Amino acid sequence: MLMSTCKRYFLPALRYNADMRIDLHSHTTCSDGRLTPQELVLRATNMQLDVLAITDHDTMAALPQAQAYIEQQGLKLKIIQGVEISTEWQNREIHIVGLGVSETPQMATFLAEQREKRRERARKIAEKLEKAGVTGIYEEALSLAGGDTISRAHFAKVMLDKGVVTKMQQAFDKYLGKGKKAYAKADWLEMKVAIALIKEAGGIAVLAHPSRYDLSAKWVRRLVKAFADDGGQAIEVALTQQQKTEREFLASLCQEHDLMASMGSDFHYPTPWLELGRNLFLPEECKPVWSSLLSQ
Ligand code: AMP
Ligand code: MN
Ligand code: MN
Ligand code: MN
Repeated sequence: MLMSTCKRYFLPALRYNADMRIDLHSHTTCSDGRLTPQELVLRATNMQLDVLAITDHDTMAALPQAQAYIEQQGLKLKIIQGVEISTEWQNREIHIVGLGVSETPQMATFLAEQREKRRERARKIAEKLEKAGVTGIYEEALSLAGGDTISRAHFAKVMLDKGVVTKMQQAFDKYLGKGKKAYAKADWLEMKVAIALIKEAGGIAVLAHPSRYDLSAKWVRRLVKAFADDGGQAIEVALTQQQKTEREFLASLCQEHDLMASMGSDFHYPTPWLELGRNLFLPEECKPVWSSLLSQ
């Protein structure tokens, strides 16, 4: 029993980890990232990545641009078509990443609706900011977003640039985070709806950064169980900035619920502490999600 488990899961994990540099969570200017698809591809190549999933929030617009650039430049990088979908579970905002997803008409319609919800929420945020005496942010946030996927991160960046806050994080802590002065709820669909949609579009449904929702360990367990019960297939086990114990805890939840493991930097822009592909490896017992993605 142990041997067959090793053959199926352990050996491929070692081979891929040793031979390939993989990052399965990243953003571009198509959502709240700061590098264009072309710049992201170039950076991934410079970081010697072999495989990169582009997982913008609620859009797949970066893919054709990234692929065209790879072909034009003759680069070796393999791009996995991905998306990060905002959903709701137990009145919390949970992100579900789809990997290897096709932009089916159904998926395209769903993502267009998500982006419309983002625009509605942005208008509400703007009103609340005005009431809180923070003026002139909305237009600039819209223009920074480029008119498609607007994120709270765009508001935070404009507030930072205007000196309303001194750090991006402060914008969330004071204004944009849940329960804060300019927080506005978006009516995201249930987590299980996104999981089903991703699978129907031929993708693998991955629970993004389970430890980044400000949940206790007990609630992370509940979330992972609900995700598995709803048909989810993998969870992000390895993140760039993470304690060893956290990675091991998430790996143990994979084992418990027979889920595959993913890893990603959630790269938005380079900082001294965050870079594409940095510090990403899976504990040996994990079943890597890319084994099935790369054989597709
Ligand atoms: P949204 O997708 O519009 O809800 O905005 C959330 C995005 O803001 C995340 O994807 C992050 O890129 C960024 N962000 C940065 N700091 C925080 C924070 N403290 N809480 C939530 N989001 C944050
Ligand atoms: Mn983001
Ligand atoms: Mn996320
Ligand atoms: Mn992300």
